[in-house]
Amino acid sequence: MSLDGLLFGTAGVPNSTVKKNNPVEGVKRIHELGLDCMQLEFAHGVRMKEEVSSALRKASYELGIPLTSHGPYYINLNAREQDKIDSSVERIIQTAKISDLCGAESMTFHAAFYMKDSPYDVFDLVEKSMNVIEERLSRLDIEIELRPELTGKTSQFGSLEELISLTKCVGSVKPCMDFSHLYARTGKYNTYEEMNEVLGQLKEELGANSLSNMHIHVSGISSNSKGDLKHLNLEKSKFNWKDMVRVLKDNNCSGYVISNSPNLEDDAIMLKEYYAAL
Ligand SMILES: [Zn+2]
Repeated sequence: MSLDGLLFGTAGVPNSTVKKNNPVEGVKRIHELGLDCMQLEFAHGVRMKEEVSSALRKASYELGIPLTSHGPYYINLNAREQDKIDSSVERIIQTAKISDLCGAESMTFHAAFYMKDSPYDVFDLVEKSMNVIEERLSRLDIEIELRPELTGKTSQFGSLEELISLTKCVGSVKPCMDFSHLYARTGKYNTYEEMNEVLGQLKEELGANSLSNMHIHVSGISSNSKGDLKHLNLEKSKFNWKDMVRVLKDNNCSGYVISNSPNLEDDAIMLKEYYAAL
């Protein structure tokens, strides 16, 4: 997929959708609001009737609103029990299957918790599972970008470095760049120069294509030393969203920018307008 510039959308159905539990209505609302894309949130389980996924695919295609997706929270590829690892693998595959039915080309998820293990061991386990998932999806003929999220808590697998390494190791893996989480996780990367460095690192390590096909999350955030505490609206947070948009624009980035703020579409629209005015 090649996009020209950034597309802005919401994590889930916009708040102002009349039927908030109906994702097809959500896609229509995104279109009415002048936004560009929408992320399907399977946070609490991957269930969707077949008629809903085909209606979503149709609405997405007809209105020109591409979809991304987010897997369930109950995923831990480093769980203590093997059956919990197995069901995490199943949840990722299930998310991929439904996302594919809906026509989504990129999906994100929180891959694992460290559980006080060495990050190197956790990396190996996550890599192993991602290879299994990739293999199974290819047998099912499902082509989707698997994007572990840059996570906000220091107890979660998903640092910038881990995502870069994993992308190098597994063919269908790419990072889901959550700049607000990166800030919450590290207390850094909140200036133009630092965010510009991050994009430089992606380009250098993963190639120019990593900037022309991005899946980005953004929200306001408040954090403590453990990282991500709470998602806020952008205007209520210290997160430097304006410089994030400028850096993305100055680097000619293309891809999806998904607002995870509580006010969803309000921040998505604010981001989109700021980007358009640059
Ligand atoms: Zn997430």
